[in-house]
Amino acid sequence: MSKDYYKILQVPQNASKDDIKKAYRKLAHQFHPDKHGGSEERFKEINEAYQVLGDDTKRQQYDQFGAVFEGARSGGGQWQGGFGFPGFDFGGEGFRGFGDFDFGDVFEDMFGGSGGARGGTKTKRGRDIQIDLEVPFAEIFAGGRHEVQIQKLTKCPHCEGVGTEPGTKLKTCTKCRGSGRLEKKQKTFLGTFSHVSVCPDCQGRGQVPEVICRDCFGKGVVRSLDRIDIVIPKGIESGELIKMSGRGEASAFGGVPGDLFVRVHVIHDGAYKRQGDDLIMLLPIKFSTAMLGGAVDISTPDGAIKLKIPEGTEHGDILKVRGKGVPSRQGYGRGDLLIEIKIETPKKLSKKAKEMVEKLKEEGV
Ligand SMILES: [Zn+2]
Ligand SMILES: [Zn+2]
Repeated sequence: MSKDYYKILQVPQNASKDDIKKAYRKLAHQFHPDKHGGSEERFKEINEAYQVLGDDTKRQQYDQFGAVFEGARSGGGQWQGGFGFPGFDFGGEGFRGFGDFDFGDVFEDMFGGSGGARGGTKTKRGRDIQIDLEVPFAEIFAGGRHEVQIQKLTKCPHCEGVGTEPGTKLKTCTKCRGSGRLEKKQKTFLGTFSHVSVCPDCQGRGQVPEVICRDCFGKGVVRSLDRIDIVIPKGIESGELIKMSGRGEASAFGGVPGDLFVRVHVIHDGAYKRQGDDLIMLLPIKFSTAMLGGAVDISTPDGAIKLKIPEGTEHGDILKVRGKGVPSRQGYGRGDLLIEIKIETPKKLSKKAKEMVEKLKEEGV
C-alpha cells in the first residue's frame, strides 16, 4: 500500500464507522490549515483517508484492494492503474464536490454554526449557548423567575452591527474580490479538489468597512454582559431544557443570533419521589393505627394536612390525596399525592404491652 489510511486516522483496522468519523473529526480540527499548529499536508492526507474509510463500500474495496496489491507484489507482478473506486468525482466546488461524504458537521464546528463556507452564505449564525440552572423544589408547584448574567457576543451598539464607523461606508474586500471565499486547489493522489475557506479579511461578507468601528474594530459584535430573565414554568421536570430563541450569541453583520438553552436542575426533596405528575411519599404509622385506623398529621407541598388512615390498613397500601401532586405542564390541573404506608413493628415491648399482644394472639389476631 502506498498509504495506510488506518494509520493516518490513528484507528485500528476493525474500527467502527463511528470511531472513524470521530477520529477524522478530531484530526481534521487539529490539522486544519487555518488553525494554529495546522498542517495542510496532514489535513489533505486525513481527508483523503476519510474519503475512503468513511464510506462502507469504498472502505471494503480499499481493504480488499490492499490485500490483492500486496499479493501481486510478492508474486513479482506489477500493479497498474489507480484506485478504481466508483463514485469519485472531485471536480466540484469545495468539499461539497465529494459526493456523499458528510462534511457538513465538521464545517459547522469549524466555522461556528450552519451557513459559513458551506452554504456560501455571507453571514453565519450566532453561536448557541447552554447554561445550567438549579431551581428549588418549590418551583415545580409555583414556577419561578431567575435573572442570570451571561458574557456573550452582542451586536455592537456603536455601529449597530455593521462594523463601520457611523457615517462611513463599506467597500469591496480586495482579498476575495467580494466573493467572501477563498479557494485553494489541492492535488492529492486521488485527484484534484478545491478547498474553500471563509475569507479572513471580510469574514465571508465580501465587504469591509472604509473606516472600522472604534468599539468593535469592525467585527460588528462586542463581548458584553447580558441579563436574561428566565421563566420557570409550573410542573418543570429536572433535566428539562428550556429553549430561548435568539438569546444566544449575536452574529456579526446581520446574521441570525444563536439560541440560549437552559438546562434546569430541580433540587431534590428527599421526602418525595416524582412519577409523572404524581408525587410519592412514604408514611410510617404505628401498628395500632394500622389496625384501628385513625388520623395522622402529615406535611405536604401545600402545608400540613390531617390524613385519615382507614381501619385495617396494610403495609404497602397506598393512600391517595387528590390534586396535591405536581401541576401538569399542559395545564390539566395537578397530579395526586400518593402516600405509601409503612407499618412500624415495635422492636421493644414493655411487659404490659407484651401481655396485651399475647391476649391478642389468643383472640386470633
Ligand atoms: Zn461596532
Ligand atoms: Zn474578503
